[in-house]
Amino acid sequence: AAYLDRIEALNPALNAFITVDREKTLAAAQAADARRAGGDTGALVGVPVAHKDIFCQQGWKTSCGSRMLDNFIAPYSANVIEQCDAAGLVSLGRTNMDEFAMGSSNENSYYGAVKNPWDLAAIPGGSSGGSAAAVAARMTPVATGTDTGGSIRQPASHCGITGIKPTYGVVSRYGMVAYASSLDQGGPLAQTAEDCALMLNVMAGFDARDSTSLERAKEDYSRELNQPLAGLKVGLPREYFAEGLSADVARVITAAVAELKKLGASVVDVSLPNTELSIPAYYVIAPAEASANLSRYDGVRYGHRATEYKDLVEMYEKTRAEGFGSEVKRRIMVGSYVLSHGYYDAYYLKAQKIRRLIANDFTAAFGDCDVILGPVAPTAAFNIGEKSGDPVQMYLSDIYTLSVNLAGLPAMSVPAGFADNGRPVGLQIIGNYFAEAKMLNVAHQFQ
Ligand code: GLN
Repeated sequence: AAYLDRIEALNPALNAFITVDREKTLAAAQAADARRAGGDTGALVGVPVAHKDIFCQQGWKTSCGSRMLDNFIAPYSANVIEQCDAAGLVSLGRTNMDEFAMGSSNENSYYGAVKNPWDLAAIPGGSSGGSAAAVAARMTPVATGTDTGGSIRQPASHCGITGIKPTYGVVSRYGMVAYASSLDQGGPLAQTAEDCALMLNVMAGFDARDSTSLERAKEDYSRELNQPLAGLKVGLPREYFAEGLSADVARVITAAVAELKKLGASVVDVSLPNTELSIPAYYVIAPAEASANLSRYDGVRYGHRATEYKDLVEMYEKTRAEGFGSEVKRRIMVGSYVLSHGYYDAYYLKAQKIRRLIANDFTAAFGDCDVILGPVAPTAAFNIGEKSGDPVQMYLSDIYTLSVNLAGLPAMSVPAGFADNGRPVGLQIIGNYFAEAKMLNVAHQFQ
């Protein structure tokens, strides 16, 4: 109830939540109380959580930030939601996001921009900006998010909180609205690495309903939190500290590395030579997959349907013209173009080859170090409106996050300090495949 009151007080200014349902939440809280009273000692029983509006949640509007799904009440729950419910987490509501998770600033939501709690003139980051802002403003202790090209790490960094994107395939995508299926991965946002570990314990696990879910035994992601960092080898990719990185973010990251050295880590230089190509490769592959995934919104099956049309084709056209926002339309056009006959080899196939080179870069780098450190974004949060008119500028700000998704690796953002303008700056920790526990260990010791 206290969290619901806080949401009611702060949401008009922050716009972090799309849907809140006091009755449903209080009923779930009562059920959790009953579980506690019955002797259930589960770590998260009764802990409130806010879910990104991308996870289908039975009986709740699941809009994905789009007019297209503004009338969609999910008839079933995503695997992530099922697991959170089973663990006794109490759902506080549904958080705002860029439409279909396309964006880096949360300005692409049908429900309006989210404000950064540290500075209402600033973007909270995207696409999980509502989740990040909600945790930062203490409207919820933990939240769920998804990361296709940075959407957990970048808003976590901009809002001064912690977020982790697991190895691709660790968290089930069942019931998570698809953006770019080969890149999408769910994960938690929370105040600390420890809370992220507890949440990941709940969210991760094999699910036969997602064909890319990995058949691995459940693990305890908190098991290494208290290990000392003596002997840890951290790699600093020279391409992440080159032109384009703002001086104040560089200052914060350099100080963070010095702190880790004090804790016993040693530093090695590594190289990720294809970093620059991650932007063109990602912005071919992600729109290509999005153009296919979004073909399901045809006005027939579910979601928005235009009211006036003369035939089926016009119904499709009007439905999609009305239901999708301009960034989503841009991605569908780019995606359809790069997949079309005659351009497929030149763009899509080439991007897939670059994707392999990027993954190989990481494999080589992890030969010399345990984790890779760097910035999450080139600058701290920019102002609302600053980049919304220039999609290429917006895409370029994703330079340090995209490669991780193209390679399928786990990575996280942990608060590291403040930019010259007082806005938070996160440190990115990238791990080898399945090194989540190690990354959380580094983050926990650092925090
Ligand atoms: N900013 C990137 C995009 O717009 C990443 C978004 C995400 O991770 N969902 O595609």
